[in-house]
Amino acid sequence: MHALTDPVRFLRGVGPEMARRLERLEIRTIRDLLFHVPVAYRDRRTITPIAQLEPGSEASVVATLARLAPVRRMRGRSDLRATLRDESGFLQAVWFNQAYLGSMLEVGKRYLFSGPVQAFRGLELVNPEFEPAEGEAAHLHVGRVVPRYHLTEGVTDRWLRARVRAALDELPALPEVIPGEWRGRFHLPELGRALEEVHFPSDPALGELARRRLALEEILTLQVALAYARRRHRAGHRALSLRSGADRATRFEAALPFSLTGAQARAIESIARELDSEVPMRRLLLGDVGSGKTVVALAAATRAAAAGSQTAILAPTSILAEQHAATAGRFLGAVGVGFGLLTATTPAAERRRLLAGFASGEIPIAIGTHALLERDLSFRNLSLVIVDEQHRFGVRQRVALTLAGRPSGNGTGETETTKRAAAHLLVMTATPIPRSLAMTLYGDLDLSILDEKPPGRAPVETLVVDGRDPRALPNVLREEVASGGSAFVVYPLVEESEALDLRAATEMTAALSSLPDLDAAGIALVHGKLPAAERRSAIARFRSGEARILVATTVIEVGLDIPGATLVVIEHPERFGLAQLHQLRGRVGRADRAGRCVLVMRRGIGEIARRRLQAFRALTDGFRLAEEDLRLRGPGEFLGTSQHGFPEFRAADPMRDPDLIEAGREWGSALLARGEAEEGLDRLGEWIGAHFAGAERYLGSG
Ligand code: ADP
Ligand code: MG
Repeated sequence: MHALTDPVRFLRGVGPEMARRLERLEIRTIRDLLFHVPVAYRDRRTITPIAQLEPGSEASVVATLARLAPVRRMRGRSDLRATLRDESGFLQAVWFNQAYLGSMLEVGKRYLFSGPVQAFRGLELVNPEFEPAEGEAAHLHVGRVVPRYHLTEGVTDRWLRARVRAALDELPALPEVIPGEWRGRFHLPELGRALEEVHFPSDPALGELARRRLALEEILTLQVALAYARRRHRAGHRALSLRSGADRATRFEAALPFSLTGAQARAIESIARELDSEVPMRRLLLGDVGSGKTVVALAAATRAAAAGSQTAILAPTSILAEQHAATAGRFLGAVGVGFGLLTATTPAAERRRLLAGFASGEIPIAIGTHALLERDLSFRNLSLVIVDEQHRFGVRQRVALTLAGRPSGNGTGETETTKRAAAHLLVMTATPIPRSLAMTLYGDLDLSILDEKPPGRAPVETLVVDGRDPRALPNVLREEVASGGSAFVVYPLVEESEALDLRAATEMTAALSSLPDLDAAGIALVHGKLPAAERRSAIARFRSGEARILVATTVIEVGLDIPGATLVVIEHPERFGLAQLHQLRGRVGRADRAGRCVLVMRRGIGEIARRRLQAFRALTDGFRLAEEDLRLRGPGEFLGTSQHGFPEFRAADPMRDPDLIEAGREWGSALLARGEAEEGLDRLGEWIGAHFAGAERYLGSG
């Protein structure tokens, strides 16, 4: 008998070499092996008489091996050819370059063969899998529903199936951690049956239910661990209650030149409730492009300022930090709240002034980039940290720890000595990500969603033009300018071709400037290599309408808010992900006039890219697009890096299991409460470890 936690090499047939190969599939324990769920099934239940076979299909036959012979080919390769016979007729079989299989077959014996049928001098089975038709061994590879796995070099489906079978046969009865009532809600089998059926189901539909049972266990494991992290953070930290700032926050809302959307009002309300308590807030604000996250953030910052404390607002780029500062300038004056902007390019004298203001508490809001994390910077009384994370998933932890955990004077008054001071934390992502993914990726945060746009915004119309026609782009721009609009022209900068693309953007600017009517409209160029002052002045010219055309590399993607812009032209749209394209498209149509988005297509693009662009034209809702993008690219690509902190699910899939993820979040907390009732807070960590294999991955050290 084996235990799930035993190393996989304890299994018969797994030596050191195979164990190393399995490691490439992240399979180290028997549990890992059993949770390595099939990517698909082949239904090989139906046995077809040879006479009824048709070319072009997958088929299984039960036949006697009538003849077997290796056939030599070039370069030492040998194929294996065979003749099979049943009551209805004869059939050829061939195994290319696998003559060694000959030793496993015996002429005159009956076997089950499964494989694709091809027309070749009659009909032929190509590289069929086989098993003795009689004998005690249960069929693994043919004559049943057969699993196919994600593989690596030197590991075949056939080999894996046999190891999985061996593992299943040697496991003791396994305790069930998921209450029957919860499994019942989704018609899921219990653990032992799920492990059997996910690999060897009597029907593919049962295999899928079994996978979902394993998925739910993974989801619960993650959620229990996250609930524990939340619980521990809350128990060990204390934040400042910002209740005394409520009046001024209400005045901030009243002074806005527009009324809040329902979603904004709900988000502000949830945030306020948490800011008013001493339990540190940890919340994610998830919103579509243009849904008005900044105002929500400023409402919170106003509350903090009016309560006599400070807020740090962190942006990933200086353009975005400047943007936030501009918005703050527009809206905070009405309530008399000051702020300071600090980036890497802030002049030394100004920086000194800001640092003094932050340290004395005189400047209540600090807006900036990573420059806010420098060691010599300190706050008198920091109570709120807002991280505008954009797509840079993963910076949150570090940032939050650095800032929120930093001692900031003694403004919180008398704190219990057992609790450490912490700031409230609000994370904003600009890219809408599917809710199920957000709950996984940001599972330790509470969630507010802005799924509503300010009223009166027509959806952006998306068109395609042929970039091989040199007049196409100038004509589009002319038309826009003539009708009173302003246009962005965006070039992607991808690393491999950064220099080329930059040149393309520069050349395009020159080419457009050589056309007198466009030149008269004013053309500005911004890119990352431009000194900050020039970049600012180019954007200012565009914002004021002095330049009606702004040629830009993707720097505008991250949040430039220029209400007068009406057209965005995107060069090489196939190089962007859907989320990025949607961000770019969100830069226009922000005022009353409907926006347009023009994709410039230059040459043949791949199939996936084509499907992505099709979806992009058809869908205008950011959350729907994000789901589609995730479906087309998978989580790794979608999130852009493998360092994004995405939990390593084997069976669970945010796209297939959103319902389980939704339920799992609540259930995770319920399980934790049960553990606490049984073991108490002190031993909760151990309890999790004992009941939820693999949870330690998510528990971290803090
Ligand atoms: P995002 O969510 O993409 O960061 P912003 O916060 O930049 O969006 O807001 C986009 C624009 O919409 C800004 O110009 C902002 O002032 C404006 N805005 C925000 N909320 C509303 C609202 N409720 N009604 C009208 N305009 C709004
Ligand atoms: Mg924004």
